[in-house]
Amino acid sequence: MAVNPISCALDFDQDGVQHGHLKLPYSRDDSAWGAILIPITVIKNGDGPTALFAGGNHGDEYEGPIALLDLARTLEPSEITGRVILLPMMNYPAVRAGRRTSPIDGGNLNRLFPGKPDGTITQKIADYVTATLLPQADVVVDLHSGGKTLEFVPYAACHRLPQDPALETRCAAAMQAFNAPYSMVMLELDAVGMFDTEAEARGKLFVTTELGGGGSTTPHTVEVAKRGLRNVLHHVGILPGAVEMRPSVQLDMPDERCFVTSEHAGILEFMVDLGDSVTEGDLIARVYDTERSGWRPVEYTAYRDGVVAGRHYPGLVQSGDTLAVIAVSGA
Ligand SMILES: [Zn+2]
Repeated sequence: MAVNPISCALDFDQDGVQHGHLKLPYSRDDSAWGAILIPITVIKNGDGPTALFAGGNHGDEYEGPIALLDLARTLEPSEITGRVILLPMMNYPAVRAGRRTSPIDGGNLNRLFPGKPDGTITQKIADYVTATLLPQADVVVDLHSGGKTLEFVPYAACHRLPQDPALETRCAAAMQAFNAPYSMVMLELDAVGMFDTEAEARGKLFVTTELGGGGSTTPHTVEVAKRGLRNVLHHVGILPGAVEMRPSVQLDMPDERCFVTSEHAGILEFMVDLGDSVTEGDLIARVYDTERSGWRPVEYTAYRDGVVAGRHYPGLVQSGDTLAVIAVSGA
């Protein structure tokens, strides 16, 4: 059986705070015996549950890395019972490049789980997380945002898990405990290869987020991330005390009619803002032809009543891009 070459000098069973790296050998022109050093922090105090918090699964989403780098510096072992493993920049080459995918192999980490120990650089990262970190975890939070091409209302999310209704209930409760301004039962366009899917298949309590986007952050979205992580630690008993709950808008994505996909390329004019309520048939956006003037723009309308939960971010849109996400009010 192939062995994953990633090594980690940290002792996951040692009490206290340890900052270190996952060392992934990467021989190349400018570093013959080189390695990729992926930062990791382990904070442990006594026996209790283990939380695995990850960011930078996509390299152009920044609430996760910021909140996790902050938590790595500020969470004291004396505050907790149990263990917290922090991986702020999981697809490290992508984070360094400011890209969704790895500049080394083009790997979209969140489509390559469970990974391969003898695969590409990105597949090796996925395999290490799956085979070494995930089995140690009781609760997993993977922080995402929209990146350079999408923007979302700040939401925590869980999935429908028809194969494991008990886990679905527990994940929904953890999502509520994260307590983002919006809470979403999320439908994935393509769930194969996602960290989410792998963690849920292994029965792990799993929460993901979409906290903003556009390839940057706001003070508000970073605060949502920082507070949400601590809230989950309270929820599972790693931090003492209860979560101080604030109101959260409940949203659901029951089927594919939530996605408005552009079938045209051009300049995008949005007629609605994130968070707006729309009814079926409402004008969402116009796409202008860049080749000529005097032509009517193509108009896109909502396929259902709901809330504008996500939108394409750049001013230019391509055919096939997700133009908007219309979620419905949840229970
Ligand atoms: Zn992402």
